[in-house]
Amino acid sequence: MSQERPYGFDTLQIHAGAKPDPATGARQVPIYQTTSYVFRDAAHAAALFGLKEVGFIYSRLTNPTVQVLAERVAALEGGAGAVCCSSGHAAQIMAIFPLMGPGRNVVASTRLYGGTVTQFSQTIKRFGWSAKFVDFDDLDAVRAAIDDDTRAVFCESVANPGGYVTDLDAVAKVADAAGLPLIVDNTSATPYLCRPIEHGATLVVHSATKYLTGNGTVTGGVVVDSGTFDWSASDKFPSLSQPEPAYHGLKFHETFGPAAFTFHSIAIGLRDLGMTMNPQGAHYTLMGIETLSLRMQKHCANAVKVAGWLENHPKVARVTYAGLPSSPYAERAKRICPKGTGGLFTFALKDGYDACVRFVDAVQLFSHVANLGDTRSLVIHSASTTHAQLTEEQQIAAGANPDVVRVSIGIEDADDLIADLDQALAQI
Ligand SMILES: *Cc1c(COP(=O)(O)O)cnc(C)c1O
Repeated sequence: MSQERPYGFDTLQIHAGAKPDPATGARQVPIYQTTSYVFRDAAHAAALFGLKEVGFIYSRLTNPTVQVLAERVAALEGGAGAVCCSSGHAAQIMAIFPLMGPGRNVVASTRLYGGTVTQFSQTIKRFGWSAKFVDFDDLDAVRAAIDDDTRAVFCESVANPGGYVTDLDAVAKVADAAGLPLIVDNTSATPYLCRPIEHGATLVVHSATKYLTGNGTVTGGVVVDSGTFDWSASDKFPSLSQPEPAYHGLKFHETFGPAAFTFHSIAIGLRDLGMTMNPQGAHYTLMGIETLSLRMQKHCANAVKVAGWLENHPKVARVTYAGLPSSPYAERAKRICPKGTGGLFTFALKDGYDACVRFVDAVQLFSHVANLGDTRSLVIHSASTTHAQLTEEQQIAAGANPDVVRVSIGIEDADDLIADLDQALAQI
């Protein structure tokens, strides 16, 4: 989109990446349900395969519907490019894949979504990669954890589920001083509430499954590249700075500049790992994003009301929501996510684990599910579900203590949500 004055967020969430369909004039983005695209002639096909010309070859790599979503999320995050993936977890692998190699590690925050802790502490070991988990409030610990084999620093902006806000500016400085990219999972905050690139992030990852789609219909992910990292400043990122053997010796950074990471993610990442988003999924996510700012405003307003009410309930031991004035992260939140801290938080019940289990059985309007960022309000007891694979120590570090319930506050009437919590708490 080219215009004199840059468009605002609410305009970009509806228009970025899209234009009336060149073939039919269709105003809404068509679902290009096709796997392949007819080449004009043999020379055109060869140019596309040689990355001499940009175009559509095969939908494992790129697809016009998916491409609109990639451009839209890149615009909302203020990035240079993006690649869509089949899930948030796929996006995380796609984000670190070009940076890593056998023996390399990621320095990651202890306060992460439970699935990410498992992916990083267990599964990536099969690739010869590893993760070192540290408390990101302790910057000396982050510095100390970085070694010659570290290739990225990874955290969440607003961490799921603990009501924790990362000091992105401070962590970005540490990463920068070590010549490393900071990768920020911005799933819980969304670009409406937090723009990690403005705080120094190199890459932003999303589970589009959550707020971006916003109604629990799609599993998807996105990796956004800021385009600002100098991959050639050291010899640490040979896939991007040196001749890449998986693409006939192409030097991605030299050839594509700020688009190097995105091109690599498509030409090698999607081509060989195949974690591609489908056009139907991209369509649903695009529909969701059109109302992202409106939904996030209501999610935040409702969460503030519900969290404030819970904080005063006699059966509730504590509420961890960065949007409450009582939160230790309230001040930091004003800087990192000034429009609000989203709809996700936890609260602890005085009667512990068993009370949590009884509580999730007693709610009626809230749905007991393993998801978040839906228009409807959701509840889960993390310790017995999403975080059950973690040790108790890891659960506590991640804010998923055995005595806490996680809620994802939807956009219903706040009074109805409070009434449901009230009747469920009365039953325990
Ligand atoms: C859900 C989630 C993920 C994983 O995303 P999927 O789409 O479920 O693969 C990663 N990070 C955060 C913060 C999440 O909430």
